[in-house]
Amino acid sequence: MKRTKKEIFIDELLKYSNASELESAKEEWNVINVKNNDGKCICGQALSYSITMVNKINENIITVGGDCINKFISNNLGIAIIKCMVK
Ligand SMILES: [Zn+2]
Repeated sequence: MKRTKKEIFIDELLKYSNASELESAKEEWNVINVKNNDGKCICGQALSYSITMVNKINENIITVGGDCINKFISNNLGIAIIKCMVK
């Protein structure tokens, strides 16, 4: 069975998070950098711009696509991303 991009994204995010479900896991991440990039998101999708985030609890660092963040877990992280892009 083929997983959707959203499922892959959430699975990967949880793998690097302390929490085991998305609602709490979302709160664990701080955006540390936003840049143009041709790398890949944790879900495997190519990126137009990349967001580097650090986990406040376990200090894992991951790179995710801006589109995926907006589509899948848009919340206070979205606000942090915008702030980060502006500065
Ligand atoms: Zn993605």
